[in-house]
This record gives sequence, C-alpha cells and structure tokens, in this order.
Amino acid sequence: MNKTKNSPFKLIVILTLVIVATMVALVFANGSTNSTSTTEQTFDKAPSIEGQPILGDPNAPITVVEFGDYMCPACKAWGQDYFPALMDEYINTGKVKFVYVNVMFHGEESILGSLAAESIYKQNPEAYWQFHKELFNSQPTDEHEASWINNDLLLTIANSIPTIDTDKLQNDLVQQSAMKEIEIDKKLVEDYKVEFTPSIMVNETMLEDPFDYERIKTLIEQELDGK
Ligand code: CA
Repeated sequence: MNKTKNSPFKLIVILTLVIVATMVALVFANGSTNSTSTTEQTFDKAPSIEGQPILGDPNAPITVVEFGDYMCPACKAWGQDYFPALMDEYINTGKVKFVYVNVMFHGEESILGSLAAESIYKQNPEAYWQFHKELFNSQPTDEHEASWINNDLLLTIANSIPTIDTDKLQNDLVQQSAMKEIEIDKKLVEDYKVEFTPSIMVNETMLEDPFDYERIKTLIEQELDGK
C-alpha cells in the first residue's frame, strides 16, 4: 500500500534531482570554458631573444617579453598605461631587459608595420624604440578595424626621426628585407602558444593577465630573489 502511494512522490523527487544535477553540470561546464581560456603558464625555458630588439641593460638578470601587434588597441593601451612603470622601476634600474616580439594577427598591415620596425632595427637599433612608440601613437583611437598602416604612414614617421635613413627603409620595404626576422617572431608566437595580444612573459612565465601589473612585479621580485 505504502509503496504504491509513494511512487508519484519518488518520481517527482528523482525528476527534480535530475533537473538540478543537469543545471549544476551546465554551470560547471560554462565555468570551466571560461577559466581554461587563459591561465598562467610556465615554460621549460624563456624565449630566445637572439636578434630581437632589447631595451635596457642586455645583461639585466630578468627578461620581460611583450608579444604585441601594432594593430592591437590593447597593446597601445598597455604601452601607455603599464609600460612606463616597468620602465621606471625595473628597466632603468638595470633589473629588467625588455624585448618586443611581433605578433601578426591582423594580416598584411601587422606584417607591414613589423617589417618596417625590424628594418629600422637592422639599420639603427637606437632608432627602433622611437619608431615603435610613434607607430603605436599613430594607431587611430576610433574605428579600430579601419586600415591605417601603409607605406606613406611608415615613411612619414621615419622622416620625423632624424637618425632613420628613410630611403633605405623604403628600399627595405620593397625588398621585404626583414622577412627572416618576421619568420623568427612567427615561430616564437607558435612555440609559446600566444593566443592574444599583448601577451607578457617574465623569464619563463607567461602571465594570465597582461594588465595585472602587481603580478608582473611579483614575478620579477621572485626571480630577483632567486638570483
Ligand atoms: Ca622580432
């Protein structure tokens, strides 16, 4: 008697449990999708910086690598809002050397900007960082998707920097003289599984969030303590 009485109730309980379990599973599935998109990752070794532009003391104990794209608004923002503190605290004090590696997620314009920067680095390493900064400064604040890196802009910026030989740059762009350097950067982007820009590495560690300056500082301080 009791059993037959309880059956509909039991069915409701079981159904409710199934629904709750499904909802919990869905919530967890969503949560894990979000959390696996970016996580801090430590590689076996830091990226090779051979032939890369280096800012600061080349013998500094810590290396910070930015994987950046001239077409990327977040990279411009990182350079303006976070880089100056890194420069003051760690690069100018000889603790960190800073290296920029080109990421070309935005196709031809990314490649053209990178070719120009790498060509300038080959003709005059001192002029590279000024050109690099000016190119980011030229990024439009509106219409991020609009096309803006072209030969005219690159030559105009180069002309404004007296230590750059603009004729040589023009020729290097036609010849794509820095294609070897571009290929080296592409390989680093692959090897270090760079999926977004900017991506920031402190020695062997790739940050989860490039805009977490406190984490950048902590990693640098830990590495300094270990040396
Ligand atoms: Ca490079």
